[in-house]
Amino acid sequence: MKNIAGKTYSLFGDDATSNGYFEIVRKLTDFHLEKFRYTAEYLLEVIRLADKKIKVKNRQQKIADIRAVISENLKQLLSPYLGGIKAHVKGLSLLQRFDATLRTKEYQYHLYMIEIELVNRINRESFFKADFKMALFPHCLSDFRSRCLSEAGDIEHICQKCTKDCHINLGSKLLKQYGIEPYISATMDQRKLFKELKNQHPSLGVLGIACIPELARGMRLCHSLGIPAIGIPLDANCCARWMGRAQETSFNFNELEKLIDF
Ligand code: SF4
Ligand code: SF4
Repeated sequence: MKNIAGKTYSLFGDDATSNGYFEIVRKLTDFHLEKFRYTAEYLLEVIRLADKKIKVKNRQQKIADIRAVISENLKQLLSPYLGGIKAHVKGLSLLQRFDATLRTKEYQYHLYMIEIELVNRINRESFFKADFKMALFPHCLSDFRSRCLSEAGDIEHICQKCTKDCHINLGSKLLKQYGIEPYISATMDQRKLFKELKNQHPSLGVLGIACIPELARGMRLCHSLGIPAIGIPLDANCCARWMGRAQETSFNFNELEKLIDF
């Protein structure tokens, strides 16, 4: 692993690995479950409502309070992993402001970090019980030192193993050992893709690897379609959509193995 700086976040913080981030998020999730005495499912529901600022009769104040508590708790502990969000959002062009991923605010990163951990805890068992398990890698994880030779496959693009150290190649090998089919995401309309997949494979589980805002959105999309999703956030957001020019990124291989070693 090497410390990589993203546009708005890096899970390395000041460390040489992103292991510390995952430990902190696990502890913070336990802390909030205990503090509010909620089940993981209920805390997840409240976090999603807090993100959207949805007004729910009698719960509006409670949700606002929870968001304030979570944000306050997370602000200090997670600040080493976040940076430059305000300046980034301020610098977005008019067109870029229509992109919900790019305009993600700091409090949303806080909520998404806990949300991803909760979704993994809730969905892990259902994911493994699914008859067809697949994973989607983002194209930003391919090896930048050479031209990616991935080819269109039966569902999405498939890695052709052209570089032995490529994160996607290494991750694909691991996933296959656990009976999970790896693909590289290429389809823009993911709702349509997942709907079609669900028709083909009624018992479907999806594992996503993506930057924090995209992973949280993908997990919500799968939830709305009744697909158990789990996932690992990228170590940093470095693609051209964020940076203007694509730069190398990575993901925590050990955390992926922990998640799929069921
Ligand atoms: S190893 Fe696979 S994903 Fe990586 S650059 Fe080659 S074809 Fe693309
Ligand atoms: S950084 Fe995020 S938005 Fe960009 S390609 Fe990777 S997953 Fe997609």
